[in-house]
Amino acid sequence: MITRTKYDPKVIEPKWQTRWEEEQIYHAPDDSPKPKFYHLVMFPYPSGDLHMGHWYNYSPFDAYGRFMRRLGYNVMQPIGFDAFGLPAENAAIKRGIQARDWTLANIERMRKQLRMMGAQWDWQREVVTCQPEYYKWTQWLFLQFYKHGLAYRTRAPANWCPGCNTTLANEQVLPNGTCERCGSTVIRKEIEQWLLRITRYAEELLRFDGIEWPEKTITMQRNWIGRSEGAEIRFFAEINGERVEIPVFTTRPDTVYGVTFFVLAPEHPLVERLTTAAQRPAVEAYVEHTRRMTEIERLNTEKEKTGVFTGGYVTNPVSGERVPVWIADYVLLSYGSGAVMGVPAHDQRDFEFARKFGLPIRQVILPPGEEESDPATWSEAKVAYGTMINSGPFTGTPPDQAISRVIRYLEEQGIGQAKVTYRLRDWLISRQRYWGAPIPIIYCPKDGTVPVPEDQLPVYLPEHVQFKPTGESPLRYEPEFLNTTCPQCGGPATREVDTMDTFICSSWYFLRYADPHNDRQAWSEEAIRRWLPVDQYVGGAEHATMHLLYARFFVKALRDMGYLHFDEPFLRLYHQGMVLGADGQKMSKSRGNVEAPDKYVEKYGADTVRCYMMFIGPFDQGGSFKADNVEGVWRFLNRVWNLVTESWVSGTVSEEENETTRTIERLRHKTIKRVTEDLRNFRFNTALAALMEMNNALIKQQHEPVARSAAYRRALETLIQLLAPMAPHITEELWEMTGHQGSIHLSDWPQYDEALTQDETFTLVVQVNGRVRERLEIPVETSEEEVRRLVLSNPRVASYVGDAAVEKFIYVPGRVANVVTRRAQAQ
Ligand SMILES: [Zn+2]
Ligand SMILES: [Zn+2]
Repeated sequence: MITRTKYDPKVIEPKWQTRWEEEQIYHAPDDSPKPKFYHLVMFPYPSGDLHMGHWYNYSPFDAYGRFMRRLGYNVMQPIGFDAFGLPAENAAIKRGIQARDWTLANIERMRKQLRMMGAQWDWQREVVTCQPEYYKWTQWLFLQFYKHGLAYRTRAPANWCPGCNTTLANEQVLPNGTCERCGSTVIRKEIEQWLLRITRYAEELLRFDGIEWPEKTITMQRNWIGRSEGAEIRFFAEINGERVEIPVFTTRPDTVYGVTFFVLAPEHPLVERLTTAAQRPAVEAYVEHTRRMTEIERLNTEKEKTGVFTGGYVTNPVSGERVPVWIADYVLLSYGSGAVMGVPAHDQRDFEFARKFGLPIRQVILPPGEEESDPATWSEAKVAYGTMINSGPFTGTPPDQAISRVIRYLEEQGIGQAKVTYRLRDWLISRQRYWGAPIPIIYCPKDGTVPVPEDQLPVYLPEHVQFKPTGESPLRYEPEFLNTTCPQCGGPATREVDTMDTFICSSWYFLRYADPHNDRQAWSEEAIRRWLPVDQYVGGAEHATMHLLYARFFVKALRDMGYLHFDEPFLRLYHQGMVLGADGQKMSKSRGNVEAPDKYVEKYGADTVRCYMMFIGPFDQGGSFKADNVEGVWRFLNRVWNLVTESWVSGTVSEEENETTRTIERLRHKTIKRVTEDLRNFRFNTALAALMEMNNALIKQQHEPVARSAAYRRALETLIQLLAPMAPHITEELWEMTGHQGSIHLSDWPQYDEALTQDETFTLVVQVNGRVRERLEIPVETSEEEVRRLVLSNPRVASYVGDAAVEKFIYVPGRVANVVTRRAQAQ
């Protein structure tokens, strides 16, 4: 027996957190002979508090990492902070505190909370993106992209939020055209900005070879990249006797004879030249109207079609026909060439446009099984493929040859060619904000744009700045930052004042974890070869298109520069679900259903909160947080504690085997198998359910003689070993109390014997009204209720019972069941 005490997480949790840290048992050494397992969770933004969502995400994640360690892997499970970004800057503006101070204080608080969770973080590898030791290398990476032609500066329209005074990525603009952060209406504004040439990798980013990702996320990335195959056709205009070509992309070159009008983006450079004097006022007013809209609004297909005739015409180079040129806001200069050939008969948007403005509609494609009809009677465009009709020499071309024949003709005539386009555009990374990594570029009046020499990195972000509502980066008003000397001529020059999008910081942090303290390089090749790629990545599905796409782009670009040896950053990706309020709604202050984890950790301890998070439901589906159910998990851990502390027998135990010990042994093997398979497949809730069942079965026998058998003691040992990934503190304490040496978290994962996971069975003789009618093989531990169900649902037995009512069910456990019917009794 061991000394009985009450389960007190307040004592044991800090004790083990301190001991683990002192002994550094969760540090992943670089020189381990074990196979590596790089286990990564999306690092948090230092908002200052770990909320329920963090606990819901990290608890199962950590349990999985612990499980892998026990299976014999050298698990690297780092944590850090994505520490640049707007909230710190807004706090600085509103409350007059320094963004750095605010951020570092929050990080300190969150470190404490992360420690309280008892997760196996490898703190030696922590990275904080706002520290110069980190952003020095973010800047270095920018320079590599610049050197390789993947970073460039251009004047381009940007989404501009007048509330935040900054540019926004498309993803930060809500579908209703407002700012994701502050709700202001976003406008378009032309400014000089830096972009990364992600489009160069569009084709490769569409491939997901050798990685195991959720299908939905892959689809979202594919749609985001938006590859279209088709043709470029060069329409032309005669302007003052000059032939000006206007290339247009179409996925349907087979409809080229159906072009009845032509549409340019209002910003298209040719609009000015094509517009006639009579149309100029209307065109100018429309251009101004468009300028005030976001791309998102312009692309909204639900929106009423608007547009203006320029008065000009272009010629269709295939049919030779002259068609009127319009401008319309649904055509964007940044997509394709900013021009669209209007084929109203076979494109729904063009159809709506033609109907609205009374433009002709001409059918040139005949879908299989249809007759040609008058488009005036149509209610929508015919978008299906079909045989070319009304198409000059192409008339009669069957659907399977139509596109290729037109493309061949375009190429032969030199008026177009096959082409692939993408919806993806280059990544705008300039932010007119303070709290970010400065872009390491210098502007010299003599030498132009000059990259900061690598040996002058980092370009330090000043600690104290003034915030002025100018819409420009605050760094513009810091003379000591702004003014510098040109690295090429030594003359006076100024620094770039924009900072980088924080998505740059998070596009490479997983590389830095492999070699976090290297002050000579961003990483050593050796460290990268040892740890990368990431074996498993866990994080929210909301990052499907930005972070996860950018990180893939970074890896591919850095591979091509010779810095990396692999193609994909994250081999396996898993998205957790969302933890909701008790009312089943998203937790939010306005609904008043927000639950803070700290209160529960304080009351029940981290192990209970961890297990409860895993018990809510399947990890990828999320579920509601219900305070009452936390209590249930707390009682479970108490029962485990009481069972082990009350029943553990030190010293010699009986090795004798009998039916009871064999049943316990089978239960043990069955539970190992269930928990092992559940954890492998992220089914933490069912793993816990299996452990609860095992615990209950052992409690039933704890006062029986079998409790002093070796089998029973092995079962107790296995129970806490299997529970350890989910509840690391209580199990570590019980492991120590039961006289084990070393940490339970470094012990080998229990093994099971497949043969022992099968139930032992017996032959049940089934009688109907006293006569033997059937024999059934039934597991030994089947309850009488279950036996009754099995017997009565057996088709043979049912045929003897017929429609008679069952009067009695007599069961002699392990031997005979007799079904007595009412009719038999009456006879
Ligand atoms: Zn805003
Ligand atoms: Zn110079």
